[in-house]
Amino acid sequence: MTRRKFICGNWKMFKTGAEAAQLVRELRTRLSESGVQIAIAPPFTALESAHAALAGSHLQLYAQNCHFEKQGAFTGEIAAPMLEAISCHGVILGHSERRTLFAEDDALVNKKLRAVLDTRLAAIVCIGETLSEREANRTWEVVSRQVRGALSGISSEQLSRITLAYEPVWAIGTGRNATAAQAQEVHAQIRGLVRELYSAPAADAMRIQYGGSVKPENAAELLGQPDVDGALVGGASLKADDFARIIAGAKLTI
Ligand code: PEP
Repeated sequence: MTRRKFICGNWKMFKTGAEAAQLVRELRTRLSESGVQIAIAPPFTALESAHAALAGSHLQLYAQNCHFEKQGAFTGEIAAPMLEAISCHGVILGHSERRTLFAEDDALVNKKLRAVLDTRLAAIVCIGETLSEREANRTWEVVSRQVRGALSGISSEQLSRITLAYEPVWAIGTGRNATAAQAQEVHAQIRGLVRELYSAPAADAMRIQYGGSVKPENAAELLGQPDVDGALVGGASLKADDFARIIAGAKLTI
């Protein structure tokens, strides 16, 4: 089965609303309609201006996080239906920065995922091991626990709205990407686990992005791996030229 490549830019805590609109305008001059699904995930405060700047384009809008309740006394939080109401297409969940800096565990990621899937939103669910876990040969133990935890109680019908993002923590923002072989190995294991938990068709359809120091120089090789179906891009998504060149790299692999 051919899975449509999916590239999402995670802007993290960068860009005001005005700066986001400017970056979207720059991206639009560089990106043409292609077989690649493209999304950007600006900070909450820039979502509306990014949405306005995206009007009429094929780029999708993602948020970087949300709360698991629909509404309530949760000062400082944002609910999934609120993101749906401002035309977000989806939400990134379980990013390693949320797991390590904001103490999100597998159970919380699962609660958030259920909340997102209660709306019409899609989700990108991040998983990945730290350097010490990799060095202790615990990569698959950690990643498989995270996948099982995130997908607990999720039906096969809901699975079509989920993209998994394998992001080795040691590769995020470090300039040190996983090799294509390292990424492919874990992606194939993740697909095997989805097959075991659901079915062969579900595993074949599941898109698994790689994230961690994806750059124009390494995108085509990483994305050329049989089980690498896209990329979650941090730093390089903040520069229109670099992001466009990564997408051009993805197109080469179609
Ligand atoms: C990320 O934050 O999801 C990420 C992959 O960051 P970077 O591309 O900067 O390593």
